[in-house]
Amino acid sequence: MRIWIVDKNASHIAAIHAILSENDVQDVHLASSLRVLKEQKRAHRGQSVDAADLLIVGERALGDELEDSCRSLSASTEFGGTAVVVLSDADGDAYEQLAERCLGAGAVDVLPRSIGAAELVRRVNLMLCLQHERRCRRIREEALETELAERKIMEARLKHLVDHDDLTGLPNRRRLDQALELAVIRSRNFHRTNAVLYLDLDQFKVVNDSEGHVAGDRLLTDVANKLRAWLKPGQLVARIGSDEFAILLEHINEAYAMEFAESVRALLADYQFGVSDVRYHVGVSVGVVINRPDEEITASELLARADQACYMAKNQGRNTVHQFSSDDQVMHTLRSDALWVPRIRRALADDKFFLAFQPVMELTTRRISHYEALIRMYGENGEILTPADFIPVAERMGLIHQIDLWVIEHVLDYMAALPPELEWLTMSVNLSGHAFQENSLLPLIKQKLDMTWVSPSRLTFEITETAAITNFAETRKMVARLRALGCRFALDDFGAGFSSFSYIKNFPVDLLKIDGSFITNLANDQTDQLLVKSMTEVAHSLGKKVIAEYVESDSILEQLVGLGVDYVQGHYVGCPQPELVSRDWMPSSGVTAQAGTSLPKLEFVSDAQAVR
Ligand code: C2E
Ligand code: MG
Ligand code: MG
Repeated sequence: MRIWIVDKNASHIAAIHAILSENDVQDVHLASSLRVLKEQKRAHRGQSVDAADLLIVGERALGDELEDSCRSLSASTEFGGTAVVVLSDADGDAYEQLAERCLGAGAVDVLPRSIGAAELVRRVNLMLCLQHERRCRRIREEALETELAERKIMEARLKHLVDHDDLTGLPNRRRLDQALELAVIRSRNFHRTNAVLYLDLDQFKVVNDSEGHVAGDRLLTDVANKLRAWLKPGQLVARIGSDEFAILLEHINEAYAMEFAESVRALLADYQFGVSDVRYHVGVSVGVVINRPDEEITASELLARADQACYMAKNQGRNTVHQFSSDDQVMHTLRSDALWVPRIRRALADDKFFLAFQPVMELTTRRISHYEALIRMYGENGEILTPADFIPVAERMGLIHQIDLWVIEHVLDYMAALPPELEWLTMSVNLSGHAFQENSLLPLIKQKLDMTWVSPSRLTFEITETAAITNFAETRKMVARLRALGCRFALDDFGAGFSSFSYIKNFPVDLLKIDGSFITNLANDQTDQLLVKSMTEVAHSLGKKVIAEYVESDSILEQLVGLGVDYVQGHYVGCPQPELVSRDWMPSSGVTAQAGTSLPKLEFVSDAQAVR
């Protein structure tokens, strides 16, 4: 341990030095005054001499302001941690008084001038021991403090990590959720309007894919910084997905929210991200949802709506702002599509489909010429669902092909099971517009016809005009192949697509089914009458027969006779139902068949005798 002895009296300090050295107290340094000591310390700053454990200082070296000097020496950072021992010039009472003053001012001991060598050594050693103890304690305390501070820093970092995004440092989804929860409560309690903006970068994927993840990360950080700088205090921006951000605006009005969204859009529309000498326009689609005080909504619903609005903004061509509206059709469709997919799959697996047959009457003979097979599905609660419920979604979600195959298989099985008396029966089967994009369709039809021995001439396929036009070349090829097999072909819902007549000329079909929309008002609408007449004439001139759908009354039926139509189909003739009606069934006057009413049945499977 190091000792400094400071006293004006050189012989005195030399004597003390000698005593201490003789008694194995090493590392003792001498200075004639505090000023000299300070200079020496300064000269050796950072070296071991700089430090001192014990400062034995003569009373006179402390100067007139004795207590102040004592206090400042023991408290000074320069002498920090040094124990001050005062060397008194006095004895007796004067010594006692001085000792009291010095000890009160922070000195650890006051040695009388007359102190004997043994006593001096004992007291210095004691002070050194105490000082050593003190220093050990201080080191332990410092270590503890450091540990505590480190733990606190660690805890703070952990806390930060839990609700902040690692890459951008922005609040993350968890933090946003908490903020949203509070915002929704505040909105309700204090009648405040809030808004949530959902941001999805338009070109992030392009940058990330073509320039790599490092560039992608840089882009995200840039955007995060831009948004952070753009916001005012109290507004929160969070990163909630790879290139998705959300902004929460509290206590605002709707106009402000929309203006704000627009300015964020503009901010990122102007922003260009550079990699080497390539510059990317990043752009953003912004979905906005307003959280009104009178609205019962949860934080997660709010965010989901903002997300939906953003999806709409993207759908509208990107770089746009869209405000959430419950009427957003695309979202409705998507939502219900998601629900329908498992239902359809289950229906296919559990055979929840069945066929209904609707009769088609030939006008010249007034007899049933054939039936159209129409698919139905049992819902979860046994209710009957019509194609409008599941065919469009099956088309969108890629399940229609399985349905088409199901129908073909079941229609042919059904026909194969008919008794010989019903060999006249021909059947129309609807095919989706996607049917011909599948190579397996034609072989399956061929195989099924072979297996069931049903003559191909008893099978007519219907495809809508719109579907046919959409995949014109493919459909035309496939239609030609099916006709080569001996099957017939009808163009369904004709006229609804308003395509040119030149298509029919180039389309090898046998029948045209005029769309029901031209038929339902036929009695009162002269334009419809003209259109039906001209469609029929063109079809006839091309050697095709014409069917009118949606024939719902006797007067329409009679009008169609006048317009030259060949066949009629509709509720007046017969509703779709699981049983076939007799070939000679005719709607008698006064009896109009309504959907769901039962017509005279043909119990051909269980009772072949019933067939006339
Ligand atoms: P579509 O082929 O034009 O079938 C005629 C539709 O009109 C049937 O509706 C039928 O119930 C309905 N209908 C018949 N007569 C009348 C009438 O007098 N008034 C009114 N208002 N409607 C009448 P459905 O069964 O709901 O079928 C709708 C559409 O779904 C069909 O139109 C067809 O495009 C499609 N579809 C039906 N079954 C199948 C199928 O097995 N496979 C495929 N891919 N599509 C099918
Ligand atoms: Mg049809
Ligand atoms: Mg139709």
